[in-house]
This record gives sequence, structure tokens and C-alpha cells, in this order.
Amino acid sequence: MLDFALPPRCPGCGAITREPHRFCLDCWRSLTFLGEPCCGRCGLPFAYPGGGGEAECGRCLADPPPFDRLRAAVAYGDIPRQVALKLKYSGRPGLAETLAHFMLRHVRPGERDVLLVPVPLHRWRLWKRGYNQAALIASALSRRSGLPAGLDLLTRTRATPPLKGLGRRDRALAVRGAFKVPPRARERLAGRHILLVDDVYTSGATAAACARALKRGGAASVEILCWARVVQVDEA
Ligand SMILES: [Zn+2]
Ligand SMILES: [Zn+2]
Repeated sequence: MLDFALPPRCPGCGAITREPHRFCLDCWRSLTFLGEPCCGRCGLPFAYPGGGGEAECGRCLADPPPFDRLRAAVAYGDIPRQVALKLKYSGRPGLAETLAHFMLRHVRPGERDVLLVPVPLHRWRLWKRGYNQAALIASALSRRSGLPAGLDLLTRTRATPPLKGLGRRDRALAVRGAFKVPPRARERLAGRHILLVDDVYTSGATAAACARALKRGGAASVEILCWARVVQVDEA
């Protein structure tokens, strides 16, 4: 209730804004919104338009990721990182609405059989933090898009170490087998198109492990939708 009584604030720096879920001008200018032209699969920005919407980048062609599509609202950077940290650790679950507001543009309208599924937290971490930020974003997206959300279709069977600083192979090893579709969820998952929701996409190891588990569990396809993604120039 308090949220409604107070003036809306910029999710980046806290300056008072005219409307809720809006950034102040300075923070807004620092954001890089992602969209076309980009790789039809991983969403990596292309320097020049061409090849239509489905052309894929060299990396996806050489080594196809286990997911069908990846889209993010903004490129990872100082402000997107701060917003994600506030949502995660500062007891500001209302920020999930703001992120959903910006992510909604990548949800294709008229999609059928789509189910929003958050990247799960391990239950110890969930118990400590009190909420899963990805589940809050998925719920907010569900309310705004009308698409159903399946918050318990994917579980994290063990706590995974921080992936930061690990090499590609070690990251993949760290999350291997960490995600599972519980047997009771298989029926609801069968043949569905999954929109896997997360806050930040960095190396992609977690998203890849989740996508593999969802497909093994019967999902027809897996798209990843996140608030911010790392855009490495050397990826192109
Ligand atoms: Zn600001
Ligand atoms: Zn790509």
C-alpha cells in the first residue's frame, strides 16, 4: 500500500519521476534498449539490418544454443545491474513490475500454448531471501500479458556456486543436472512453448541448463526472456 502513497521514483537512481515504472532522463539515456536488427536466435545486436528477422549470428550457426530464442529488454550495464540488485537484495519486489513493463515488448502477441516459467532458486536461497526475483517478474509478465505462468514446473535440485570468474567449461559443469522438471509437472509442460524468465543473462550457462531440462521434460520449445543481457563485442 505504501508504494501507492509515495511518489514514483526512478528505479535506477531514486529520483522522483512523473509516472511509475519510468526512468529519469539521465538513467534512461544510459540504457541501451535491445531490438532489431539482431540475431534471430540469440538476439545479439547486428551492426546492419539484413537477412530478415530470422538470420542467425555466426556463433549460433557454428554452435547452436539449446534454446530457440533469447531476448532481453536492455544491454547489461551499470544501471540495469543496480536495478537487478535492488530487486534481488534490497527488499524491493515492486521493481519486478518495472522490469516486466520493459520486457513485455519482447512477448510476441497472439502466441498460443505459451507458458511463462521462471529460472528457479534453490530452496535454501529462497528461504533466506523470501522470494525468487525471476518468479516475481514472471508473475508480473503474466498479469500484463494474460499468458499463464507455471511457477513450479522447473526446480533447482541443488545449490550452484557463483559462476562469475569460471571458464566456459567449468560454468557448464557447475550447473549440469542442477535443474529438473518434477514428474508431477510433466503433463502440464508437454508440448508447451516455454518463455523462460530471468533477471540477468550473463554467460548463458544457467539458461542453457534450464532449457535442456525443460526440453527433456517435454517442452516443445524454450525462449529466454530477461531484463538485461551481457552484450560482448567479441561475441559477434
Ligand atoms: Zn535515474
Ligand atoms: Zn546468435
